[in-house]
Amino acid sequence: MSMKFDVVVIGAGPAGYGAAIRCGQLGLKTACIDKSLDKEGNPVYGGTCLNWGCIPSKALLDASHKYVEARDNYSAIGLNVGDISVDIPKMIARKDEVVAGLTGGIAGLFKGNGVTGLPGTGKLLADLVVEYTQHDGKVENIEASHVILAPGSVPIEIPPAPLSGDQVVDSTGALDFQAVPKRLGVIGAGVIGLELGSVWSRLGSEVVVLEALEEFLPMVDKRLSRDALKIFTGQGLDVRLGARVTGTKTSKKQVTVAFEDKNGEQQVQVDKLIVAVGRRPATTGLLAADCGLETDERGFVSVDEVCATKLAHVYAVGDCVRGPMLAHKGTEEGVMVAERITGQKTMVNYECIPNVVYTHPEIAWVGKNEQQLKDEGIKYNAGAFPFSVSGRAIAANDTHGLVKILADAESDQILGVHILGNQASELIAQAVIAMEFDASAEDLGLTMFAHPSLSEAVHEAALAVGGHAIHMVNRKRK
Ligand code: FAD
Ligand code: NAD
Repeated sequence: MSMKFDVVVIGAGPAGYGAAIRCGQLGLKTACIDKSLDKEGNPVYGGTCLNWGCIPSKALLDASHKYVEARDNYSAIGLNVGDISVDIPKMIARKDEVVAGLTGGIAGLFKGNGVTGLPGTGKLLADLVVEYTQHDGKVENIEASHVILAPGSVPIEIPPAPLSGDQVVDSTGALDFQAVPKRLGVIGAGVIGLELGSVWSRLGSEVVVLEALEEFLPMVDKRLSRDALKIFTGQGLDVRLGARVTGTKTSKKQVTVAFEDKNGEQQVQVDKLIVAVGRRPATTGLLAADCGLETDERGFVSVDEVCATKLAHVYAVGDCVRGPMLAHKGTEEGVMVAERITGQKTMVNYECIPNVVYTHPEIAWVGKNEQQLKDEGIKYNAGAFPFSVSGRAIAANDTHGLVKILADAESDQILGVHILGNQASELIAQAVIAMEFDASAEDLGLTMFAHPSLSEAVHEAALAVGGHAIHMVNRKRK
């Protein structure tokens, strides 16, 4: 007899576990299948985010930032720490402990919410049947009333730079170097390239980042991306824009990377190379030929605005569907689908997704940037406040960056908020809440913020939209 569930979720990353936990809370008999194994070969939940993505990268970003602070900046505030050194194996082992704690937490949440975790691989067959293959090869069919596909994504590989042992690696390999590479190459100046490039640069690598596009961080507001590039270059990241990698050659000692830029053909020699050129949906083998559903040519599952596929009762969420590949976006989609299965009318507000690049300073934004508003012909007012005049930032000796708020010229509704600075990832939440409630810049300006705090920069930027920030001289309106 085959197993039967109200809901079967394939994939236990943030999108899949979010869906499964919410289904469990709503009283649906739910199973969540995931094939991931940890370094010891034990089944783990949490997907890319917890195992090889958000969490381990942030553990290393935070550790390496603390090191740089102690090494370069403590003496300026009167703290002499003497010689400090880095213990990479310990840092990596501690990162693994953080991961283990959190992935174990998901198993606990499954238990607490009545979700049956099924280690192994899931495949959608016809008629709402899911084929479940356990790690020992045993195969069972599961009947479901609803299926939620949440297989996530995997790193894109490019022919000029095939992965090779621990020398040419993807983001997963770059989280596990056991020593600081003397020279590190990174292909791709996207989010992963900048975050992991920063980690190893802070710890002592000479880092060269090869980016095919001429523009740095094209999705970021131009003022912020320009300032960020200057700051990152000052920190030691050698970012080469317009650099198209044409080939790599590995020898025992080094990797030679050939690339073309405006100066013609060039080469760099590095000890390790990280390939970080984007991710693609992990949908290979997910759908049986006769299940009634196919992926598009890039591997994405097509869904409507509420994550329903063209098959009744089959949904897809997270990195395998359109939209940004972000953990929080996937979780919100998973929760939405669970609630809609039980008849609620939940929607995801795709206009209000926060994005963060966890460099130092961090870059965070929500909504539209100036270029997008110009392209769309929307008239707006802008207000900006630099951290260089924020009392809290000066006290903390961390004054890079600014907050910029863009508001509709007529209604004053906030259309976009862009932050470059220390703790931008936390500050952006205020903007998301304001935008979620359709706040105007004036609404934010009339709200009281604690002093001294970095949040005051958000307040002042909102006041600056109307030309009356208090703690800086406002630009004269034309
Ligand atoms: P995933 O997290 O990829 O989970 C999918 C799970 O499904 C995996 O465990 C996979 O093994 C399993 N699976 C796939 N196919 C099957 C199958 N057929 N049967 C069973 N199981 C299957 N995002 C952020 O928002 N913030 C960050 O700071 C951030 N940092 C990142 C850093 C790095 C280095 C990387 C690589 C990614 C980062 N991301 C970040 C992106 C984030 O990790 C993803 O957007 C998020 O994990 C996607 O969630 P998901 O549930 O869709 O898929
Ligand atoms: P990305 O899309 O952010 O950046 C990839 C970069 O590589 C792009 O700038 C692209 O122009 C460049 N590129 C592509 N092919 C190239 C080539 N052949 N030579 C040189 N450059 C090339 O992708 P990523 O950094 O790999 O990250 C993947 C996804 O993971 C992101 O889309 C993001 O959504 C997610 N992520 C998010 C966070 C975060 O939220 N902080 C952190 C890490 C990853």
